[in-house]
Amino acid sequence: MRTGIRLTATAGLRLLAARHAGQCLPRWARRRRYGRDAGRTRPALHEQSIKGADFHTGIAITSSIHPDDKTHIEPVRYGKGSNSMGLLTTVMTDGGGKVPRWLKWLVQLLRHPAQAASLYVGLWDWSQRTVIALVMQTEDNSLTLFPKRTRFGRIKLSSRQGHGVPNPTWIPAANEAVRTLAREIDGTPWSSIGEILDIPMTAHFLGGCVIAESPERGVIDPYHRVFGHPGLHVFDGAAVSANIGVNPSLTITAQAERATAFWPNRGEADSRPPPGASYHRISPVQPLKPAVPEHAPAALRLQ
Ligand SMILES: Cc1cc2nc3c(=O)[nH]c(=O)nc-3n(C[C@H](O)[C@H](O)[C@H](O)COP(=O)(O)OP(=O)(O)OC[C@H]3O[C@@H](n4cnc5c(N)ncnc54)[C@H](O)[C@@H]3O)c2cc1C
Repeated sequence: MRTGIRLTATAGLRLLAARHAGQCLPRWARRRRYGRDAGRTRPALHEQSIKGADFHTGIAITSSIHPDDKTHIEPVRYGKGSNSMGLLTTVMTDGGGKVPRWLKWLVQLLRHPAQAASLYVGLWDWSQRTVIALVMQTEDNSLTLFPKRTRFGRIKLSSRQGHGVPNPTWIPAANEAVRTLAREIDGTPWSSIGEILDIPMTAHFLGGCVIAESPERGVIDPYHRVFGHPGLHVFDGAAVSANIGVNPSLTITAQAERATAFWPNRGEADSRPPPGASYHRISPVQPLKPAVPEHAPAALRLQ
């Protein structure tokens, strides 16, 4: 590990929870078969109040709307000052049909230039005037990432359609919900700027080092141990194997808690099967020195 000064960190058991989907494991992870990359599409839609309302105070996410059985929309607040996200938005334009979407968007800009300009004029308090509609679906779809050489010779990470049904370039039920919400708050419906070119956006970047029974099908075993690299573990979003269709942080945390609960205390025998052996269910290990004190509400209580 290196910062301004040189530091060396050593550990018997190592974990990785840095940037996932192969970026944290550049050399060997690219050589391995990833299983599936689960960068699930999640168009971010927005609607913006034009009457100076203040939406930024309070808990970020408190409720859900289910316009159909596979779509889930959460109204989200962004904190004061989180305005640069506004640069990713533009006038909402539906997809589909014969007319290219960028052309429909251009016509809208020409017909309502003041509306389009209002985003940039009011960018300094964008997060206070905006409610984000976070749209997620339970469809079994994915993006696969791959290294690509740019015209300047550098390697960048690019994406293409992965396993499963095609990723949607727009979600009609979501656009309808945002327009309804915009009417309620006397605002303007916006969507993410990439949608103009039918490029959806996701903040739920999952998969890449998925759990499997063998290195042919994934990168880590059911105890999150990297195949062929004893002591190395992956605990972050890269270890999530499928589209969970909801916000992923708690799933990532739960997987990490489960896997670390099997780690032995220093000096004790490891109760997990040896790497390469088949999976069997084992009991969590009571830590001798838990980080959370026993009297704290979040203290670990093994049944
Ligand atoms: C705008 C936005 C809003 C979101 N809202 C929600 C939400 O409301 N609820 C929810 O459940 N999820 C939400 N998510 C998704 C959630 O934040 C991620 O799924 C989750 O944080 C992924 O966790 P992770 O540990 O895999 O990676 P990260 O949280 O991205 O952690 C990676 C860490 O590794 C560090 N790192 C990267 N490279 C290196 C390196 N080379 N060396 C050392 N360290 C490195 C990074 O600095 C970072 O701290 C949101 C995501 C975004 C972008």
